[in-house]
Amino acid sequence: MPEPTPCDLLLTNAQILTMDERFSVWTSGSLAIGGNTILAVGTVGPEYEPTETVDCAGRIVMPGLVNAHTHAPMVLLRALADDLRLDVWLMGYMMPVERQFVRPDFVALGTTLACAEMIRSGTTCFADMYYFEEEVARATAAAGLRALCAQTVLKFPAPDAASFEDSLARARAFIRDWKEHRLVVPGVAPHAPYTCTSEMLRACADLARELDVPLQIHLAETAFEVERSRREHGTPVIPWVNTQRLFDARVVAAHCVHLDEGELRTLKDAGAGVAHNPTSNLKLGSGIAPVAKMLELGIAVGIGTDGAASNNDLDMFEETRLAALLAKGVSGDPTALPARQALALATRSGACAIHLGHLTGSLEPGKRADLIVVDLDRAHNVPRFERDQSAVYSQLVYASKATDVVDVMCDGKWLMRDHQLLTIDEDGARAAAQEMARRIDLFLTEREQSVLQKLIAIGGAAERESFEVQVKARVSSLPTVRRALTSDEITVIRAVHYYQYDTYFFFDDPAQGRLRYREDEFLDDQDNVVNARAQLTLTGPSREAAFGSVLLFRSRFFAPATHSPRFYREYFKPAREREVEKDRHRWLVAFRGVQFYVHVDHLVNPHAGTYFVEVKSRTWSRRDAQDKAAIIMELLNLLGARANETIEEGYVEL
Ligand SMILES: [Zn+2]
Repeated sequence: MPEPTPCDLLLTNAQILTMDERFSVWTSGSLAIGGNTILAVGTVGPEYEPTETVDCAGRIVMPGLVNAHTHAPMVLLRALADDLRLDVWLMGYMMPVERQFVRPDFVALGTTLACAEMIRSGTTCFADMYYFEEEVARATAAAGLRALCAQTVLKFPAPDAASFEDSLARARAFIRDWKEHRLVVPGVAPHAPYTCTSEMLRACADLARELDVPLQIHLAETAFEVERSRREHGTPVIPWVNTQRLFDARVVAAHCVHLDEGELRTLKDAGAGVAHNPTSNLKLGSGIAPVAKMLELGIAVGIGTDGAASNNDLDMFEETRLAALLAKGVSGDPTALPARQALALATRSGACAIHLGHLTGSLEPGKRADLIVVDLDRAHNVPRFERDQSAVYSQLVYASKATDVVDVMCDGKWLMRDHQLLTIDEDGARAAAQEMARRIDLFLTEREQSVLQKLIAIGGAAERESFEVQVKARVSSLPTVRRALTSDEITVIRAVHYYQYDTYFFFDDPAQGRLRYREDEFLDDQDNVVNARAQLTLTGPSREAAFGSVLLFRSRFFAPATHSPRFYREYFKPAREREVEKDRHRWLVAFRGVQFYVHVDHLVNPHAGTYFVEVKSRTWSRRDAQDKAAIIMELLNLLGARANETIEEGYVEL
């Protein structure tokens, strides 16, 4: 008889779910581990001589779960802002708070707390995408978990990079530093097609290919994203990123909710993995990914929780159950995504989706010892049937809870024994998280009190005041003004014609001022729309001063409007709003050595039969305003408007 092989650990008497390709199950099996590697699974006999033996009688031993998409540090933003639309949630809350608070210590703390939650709920591997990814990597390695850590690249200034070039340099350095780590596989994460330029997508794909690491990205998450891609690029999301050569890299595509079969085939042909995030997609109202179709085409699909800010937890038991139930509910077919297959998505298939299938996801000799021990003997999970071997999968997917996980091992090291965390100071992390929440609360409470502060938070621009003097009056017709402008005393510098659509937002507290969303459609000589622009203006609550009929106004903020009126409505929650639509002719003129804008407006909505003229000029002091007020009245007379017909507060009651 040959000498027995020494091994570090032998698990015995376990019901072993290997989750290998054949779904091998051992009802009273053993598993031998040497170092960080599985040596043997099944009926392991005296050929192994273990240093330690653990009796797993009555328990399930199975691969640790793989969370195929998350943003671990976002556990610190759990329940910060919920029940909002994706753009308002992301651009209005998540990103401004992240810009303010996300520092290396935030990321390290969040990751530690996330790891505690993941270990407790049986996750041993996750795919992460965040800022300061080296801190995610460090905290993950300290907790002893395995992860694909991908450094975010964005077109906006991010908490860890002022520009795209900075974030790309950061990603390169991060990948270089972590390339050979035992637990962490580094990667790059262009956030999404709508938050990256085509140049950025190409650069990230090149980097991933050059350094041979996976690339993570959010793709086709919402119908809006697809619409926007069609509008801006003339194609849906997948063909667009394909022409940017994104799939030259090994891609992990999160979400993939809104795509057709042709696009799915592109993913399949590219060898891309998909992370299905059912809770996040439901919670943000994004839709339901066509998982059954993906599986039919042979795409590697994993299950992800997404960040805890949109879930709101990292519980893969819950996520797997939801994935199975949704697939049935949406297809009307209860045989869709059976329990065994759902659990495969949460283990082996998930590991393949994030390109770590060679390391983890199943209990097979040669793979890393990433496993969990589950107690199925609690009231909610008895009795157990032996007749059908797949009953155990049903138990795990439809009845088990994350709290049934008793022991967790990753890379051959115990991270939890008998519900006790061995690598993380959970109490310390909890207390520090609470302190962070207190600071974030304070910041948001302050911001929410001011329309201006909220505007700055999303505009990325600083407060910028400007003053102008203006007067408004009725005029009989457009030709009257045109004729007057030919006067020798007036020099016309520029003339444009456009349609102006204004949406005014009013707030209960008049001191907040009023916010105007304005869209201009510029017209050519034949009244065809040749150009468009949108702007936001926050004006003061009232005029600053009056010089006869001429008023002095202060505008407090002015910026291009990059979101839709719907976004601003949901973000600012105005008390009421008003729409005004006008046909405007605009001239820039010089008169008495001063430049003025002359507007002639015809109100389309609300309809008004008359024409209005508005004359205005920038000013910088009360004295200057007073001087200009006198010249304005002269100009107004020249234009054929009579001073006693001036209108104090605009064209319409606002
Ligand atoms: Zn995500």
